[in-house]
Amino acid sequence: MIRFPVDFSSDTQTRPTPAMRQAIAAAEVGDEQKREDPSVNRLQEMVAELLGKDAAVFLPTGTMCNLIAFTIHCRPGDEIILDEGSHPARFEGGGPAVHARASLCLLHTKNGIFTPQQVEQAVRPDDPHFVRSRLVSVENTHNIKGGHVWPLEAVQAVAAAARRHGLLMHLDGARLLNASVASGIPARDYAALFDSCWIDLSKGLGCPVGAVLAGAKDFIAQAWRYKLLFGGAMRQAGIIAAAGVYALQHHVDRLAEDHARAKALARGLAEVPGIAIDPGEVETNIVIFDIGGTGVPRAELLERLAAHGVRFSSALQPTQLRAVTHLDIPTDGVPRALSALRKVLAEK
Ligand SMILES: *Cc1c(COP(=O)(O)O)cnc(C)c1O
Repeated sequence: MIRFPVDFSSDTQTRPTPAMRQAIAAAEVGDEQKREDPSVNRLQEMVAELLGKDAAVFLPTGTMCNLIAFTIHCRPGDEIILDEGSHPARFEGGGPAVHARASLCLLHTKNGIFTPQQVEQAVRPDDPHFVRSRLVSVENTHNIKGGHVWPLEAVQAVAAAARRHGLLMHLDGARLLNASVASGIPARDYAALFDSCWIDLSKGLGCPVGAVLAGAKDFIAQAWRYKLLFGGAMRQAGIIAAAGVYALQHHVDRLAEDHARAKALARGLAEVPGIAIDPGEVETNIVIFDIGGTGVPRAELLERLAAHGVRFSSALQPTQLRAVTHLDIPTDGVPRALSALRKVLAEK
């Protein structure tokens, strides 16, 4: 079994805890597609309530949440305005084009947070030469650009610009609960500004599988249609939904611990010669840092850290690494990673 004792590569690296496994083992199940799985139904109700929406639908992945929402919102050819580093633009294998037949208008930002002016400039004139602007997609927190939390006013301003042009709003909330715990802004206050929104269960919440997409009644009715069409309708899915129910009860508030550890890691990294990072930039569980000053190529550094049982991942720039904290980082994970890093750099 390949397992890094200190694995900062992603918050997807968590394994279900013993208590979560108990919840899974005890799950009441039924046929999800017939809406007869009590655990799935419960999870959907909990997320609809959490996000202040009419209804929600359980899906196997966050990627499917994005793609189903895009497919519902967009006519073929319509354009989605979003950050260039956002998950659908980078990591969904061209899914928006393949599944939603939508094109993407990429905005350039430092930290994933764009402005209403950028939205205004991106909107196409109503002219048959142009693609039709249709949807604005916001990622909160932003993953690959460092886990930044969108201030509520920034989302409000973007939503107002979108609405002025008749555009719809979609929230990629893979880490919405990180944003909420870090800022104290209730998830539903963010969600209220969007036509569709979702949370991932398999990131910081620590579940093995799943994501939940929420929206208005009609939207979720259509989402069920695409859940079947995309092959995402399951059967006794309560086995995995029970993990989600458990996580919403027990793993939300503790995200604050992940955030504190990310800060501690950032502060430690800032003291390592050759590493550039501003710990003030770390708002949630993601730490992006630059290793250019160490003189060690990224691939080599990753490999040598791996030999010490420590794993980081790559970020957008060739000299950047990314570390993500989560509930499977051991208590001494931060000092262990820092000492491995110092050792590796001393060896060079
Ligand atoms: C992980 C992630 C996704 C995709 O979620 P999966 O459950 O892995 O398919 C989408 N958006 C963001 C911001 C993510 O971090």
